[in-house]
Amino acid sequence: MIQVIKKGMIVGMVAASVIFTGCGNAAEPAAGSSAAEANADSGAAEINTGSSAASSGTASADENTEDTVETNSDAENYELLTREVFAMDTYMTFSAYGEDAEAALDEAEEEILRLDQLLAAESEDSEVAKLNQNGGGQLSDDTAYLIERSIALNQETDGAFEITVYPVKQAWGFTDENYRIPSDEELAELLPLVGSEQLELDAENKTVAYQKDGMKIDLGGITKGYASSRLTDIFMKHDVQGMINLGGNVQVYGPKPDGSDWRVAIQAPERTEENTLPWLSQAASGSASLAGLDYIGVLETNSQAVITSGGYERYFEKDGVYYHHIIDPKTGYPSDADLVSVTIVSEDGTLADGLSTSMFVLGLDKASEIWRAHSDEFDMILMDTDGNLYVTEGIKDQFTSDLEIHWIE
Ligand code: ADP
Ligand code: MG
Repeated sequence: MIQVIKKGMIVGMVAASVIFTGCGNAAEPAAGSSAAEANADSGAAEINTGSSAASSGTASADENTEDTVETNSDAENYELLTREVFAMDTYMTFSAYGEDAEAALDEAEEEILRLDQLLAAESEDSEVAKLNQNGGGQLSDDTAYLIERSIALNQETDGAFEITVYPVKQAWGFTDENYRIPSDEELAELLPLVGSEQLELDAENKTVAYQKDGMKIDLGGITKGYASSRLTDIFMKHDVQGMINLGGNVQVYGPKPDGSDWRVAIQAPERTEENTLPWLSQAASGSASLAGLDYIGVLETNSQAVITSGGYERYFEKDGVYYHHIIDPKTGYPSDADLVSVTIVSEDGTLADGLSTSMFVLGLDKASEIWRAHSDEFDMILMDTDGNLYVTEGIKDQFTSDLEIHWIE
């Protein structure tokens, strides 16, 4: 199953022969997506996170698969290989170095396409879509694992993480981009279908049965984190190191080729097309420190997943009100807690993704409470609607920002 990467292990794996410095830029970012940026002078690659591909067009996987080879004339025979793939509705970049890097990237690409086909609720012949058509059924290892973890997360987050929210997501048009505001009556009819306790999972025999007609599940809140964990396993198997960036959801495995940590830049909440920040309170959206801010801050790591959720990632506007894609399962409305951006840092990518969605729904106080009970498993970087930055103290040595940091202890 999922291999949790231990920090010590990664450090131990760094090949002593890696003398490469100034590794340079992994790849040219595709329009509207995140990718690795680099500072050629210092070799400090910064990976931007937080952007989804909602606006990044219609490119197909075929058109967007290419390799970039970075070589450094100073280094003897060192190559950082970078692959760009369009999948899961987002631009992705995988970078690896090591003897077997090419094979690792091939397998990583294959795996991402396989998971996309298997898990996308929106594509008709995915396993998840078939489960939804049939009210359950036999599960592959991947879906069995993900449903089991999702149910556990649901219980740990007071129901905030809720994969059965899909009928409500459909009603809002987030599944086919026919955006609309469902009536209260419509939501009242759909809400009884929402509730993970109505999923009968048989983990041993790998089956699930939905208790009510019309129930549907959606693993979109956890898929990319799971995918980056799987790719990390592939890197490990091939004994290569590198970085996986799935549309702003980043997981790194081992240090950069020069031996230093990756610098993962946490993207600030994106502006709308009208150059406004409706996710923030009026005072905050006019504040000088947030105007023009590109990054909330930078996290240095060589062994973690860094996964961000924010309402600004996918939304529509009607009559001046902004509606985004993370649903509060209790109300059936886009969640309106007090956070605009939630980044979870963890060695477990699946957990990080599930929690980023959950904490966004739960808000600052409840998120802090859950962190205090599980502070050995993850850390968080949160921005609230007033533009205040809150960071858990477990990453005090790793995170820096130009903004004032309120440490959560
Ligand atoms: P991203 O789109 O970057 O993967 P998230 O990880 O936050 O962002 O996942 C958002 C997706 O999760 C939504 O598009 C939807 O498919 C699903 N979702 C929405 N609300 C919930 C929820 N309360 N619990 C679990 N999944 C949700
Ligand atoms: Mg998520």
